[in-house]
Amino acid sequence: MAALPKVDKIWMNGELVDWDSAQVHVLTHALHYGSGVFEGIRCYETPTGPAVFRLTEHMERLARSAKMMRMELPYSVEQLVDATLALIAANGLKSCYIRPLVYRGYGVMGLDPLPCPVDAMIAVWPWDTYLGEDALKNGVDAGVSSWRQRSSNALPPQIKGTGSYINSSFARMEANDHGYAEAIMLNEAGMVCEGTGENIFVVRDEIIVTPPVSDGILEGITRDTVIALAQDLDFDIIEASMTRADLYIADEVFFTGSAAEIVPVRSIDHRAIGTPGPMTLAIQEAYFNVVRGLDSAYEFWLERV
Ligand code: PMP
Repeated sequence: MAALPKVDKIWMNGELVDWDSAQVHVLTHALHYGSGVFEGIRCYETPTGPAVFRLTEHMERLARSAKMMRMELPYSVEQLVDATLALIAANGLKSCYIRPLVYRGYGVMGLDPLPCPVDAMIAVWPWDTYLGEDALKNGVDAGVSSWRQRSSNALPPQIKGTGSYINSSFARMEANDHGYAEAIMLNEAGMVCEGTGENIFVVRDEIIVTPPVSDGILEGITRDTVIALAQDLDFDIIEASMTRADLYIADEVFFTGSAAEIVPVRSIDHRAIGTPGPMTLAIQEAYFNVVRGLDSAYEFWLERV
């Protein structure tokens, strides 16, 4: 993975600070106990200037993650949206990735996080494709992980929390070690959940299936977008639990995520799924038209810089 490209400014607790000065104390609570919540968002270049895709919904999910963690969000969703748009403008970016993080800061140690201050930051930087240009075009090889998705009674997958990603990192490292680009995680009951940073969709007999939130997934904003776009395309799409075998006999499989975008899966555990299928390609095209501002029907999802 390429090193982070630096830009001028990072937003920290309401101030724009220089990239190199955006630092925290080593006794920051979140560094020790994973007590942070975050988002991953993209800003795309459109014919009428840069636009952030579903920014408000991402900040609303951040607020829900914070609520589940009992963190008092120090800024309103609206303030975080405005700060993001101003930060992109200040850095003069046409397109970028956006990473807001709300975390327990410096001041108190120990496992009760409630006495700790809550800090917030937003960083933006140019970031090309997450799994690579070739992945978008030709698909990726994926493998079912030996690591289970953490259960709702351990660390709820609906919280986009920093500590939660230890689990995802285990799965991602294992997948890479096995020569796969991405892992597919099952829950403790053996039902298909999601990738390490993506939701998953499976097509069989022209019906698109994606796991329900109750199987233990993050409520992806791209997932929600894809459900809407599939309905527009008159595709049958349902939420249903799936087993590992359902993956092996799929006609098409694809991952969705703000960073990953729409990535076809060409094999799972060495069972060929094949080249990107027609329904995957139709959804991918529809998605890129929406995020790049080429589909006026979804203009309301674009928040202009
Ligand atoms: N699942 C997990 C575990 C993720 O980290 C992500 C990325 N945020 C997703 C799904 C996809 O969510 P979204 O489409 O909102 O980016």
